[in-house]
Amino acid sequence: IALQTRKYSIATIPADGIGPEVISAGIQVLCKVSELDGSFELEFEEYDWSSDTYKKTGKYIPDGGLDKLKKHDAILFGAVGAPDVPDHISLWGLRLAICQPFQQYANVRPTKIFRGTRSPLRNANHGDLDWVIVRENSEGEYAGQGGRSHRGQPWETATEVSIFSRHAVERILKFAFETARKRPRKLLTVVTKSNAQRNGMVLWDEVAAEIAKQFSDVKWDKMLVDAMTCRMVLDPKSLDTIVATNLHADILSDLAAALAGSIGIAPTSNLDPTRQNPSMFEPIHGSAFDITGKGVANPVATFWTAGEMLNWLGEDEAARKMMEAVEAVTERGIVTRDLGGSVGTKEVTDAVCEELGRVF
Ligand code: ATP
Ligand code: MG
Repeated sequence: IALQTRKYSIATIPADGIGPEVISAGIQVLCKVSELDGSFELEFEEYDWSSDTYKKTGKYIPDGGLDKLKKHDAILFGAVGAPDVPDHISLWGLRLAICQPFQQYANVRPTKIFRGTRSPLRNANHGDLDWVIVRENSEGEYAGQGGRSHRGQPWETATEVSIFSRHAVERILKFAFETARKRPRKLLTVVTKSNAQRNGMVLWDEVAAEIAKQFSDVKWDKMLVDAMTCRMVLDPKSLDTIVATNLHADILSDLAAALAGSIGIAPTSNLDPTRQNPSMFEPIHGSAFDITGKGVANPVATFWTAGEMLNWLGEDEAARKMMEAVEAVTERGIVTRDLGGSVGTKEVTDAVCEELGRVF
């Protein structure tokens, strides 16, 4: 039988700060994985959209840019944000300008403690914290609805309106139950704040109970977001898959990243589960201008990001081996300063490439 090679076209947007450094490390490792695996090929096309482009042209994405991007199978994104561009401009100008038209309504953030790394939780070790946080990525508290009246007056008022549509709540909760079902423990925690917010959050609770009926094999429970922060710290082993609104999951996932040991290891996926548009994969950390150009950025978040991308493309086996190699390297203590080590981006990347040779 003639084996057909699968081919994937990947758009890369390295963008700002340490973005280009970690994306180039990610591409190096991905190329090694596809070479050793031999059953699929990756083709990369770089888009140089960044805060520099914005400062020169007034736009992050040039005209027709999204149409080009749409042709790829996936997008690998570095980081956006510059000291001299307000955060809400860079965020809405590049990341959200891709997430929203591409209907990437599910934001997925896995977290775990890698072998050889330490959590700030005194008693948590490798394996004790292994979560996937599913964040609603299209509406909720970040719908951008609201306004201000009587500017500057003592009676000035601002409203920030949250939008919860049954359509969006149903699709994210269904996605969360499906995510939980695919994991060994089949355990889902639905996080809301329905004691204090009695409209949108009660809708979430009701829809969760309805959808749960289609997933009798998934064990699920409900938590209020405030109590959830305590449970994450005090009883991390009791959790597995977690779903929450745009705002709540934003906060919980930063807590999760810190509990796992460093912001330099965690990935995030912006998924269009309908697969009509390419999904976008990025490390959760920002552009980190304080360490840009020094060769010390931790590339592990981008490696894990690349692994999540391979998973989404259907190359689960290659993704699993890639993560095995990454963890073998952290376990040997070949880690950057943020994880208590002393080596740079290049040493970690080379060590992972070498380890891949053993894993495959
Ligand atoms: P943003 O607004 O884009 O989130 P930020 O400045 O709030 O940016 P980061 O850019 O993520 O946040 O940086 C926060 C801190 O974490 C900085 O001190 C940075 O050096 C450190 N940091 C972030 N990413 C990494 C990484 N990959 N390796 C090492 N340190 C990192
Ligand atoms: Mg930040």
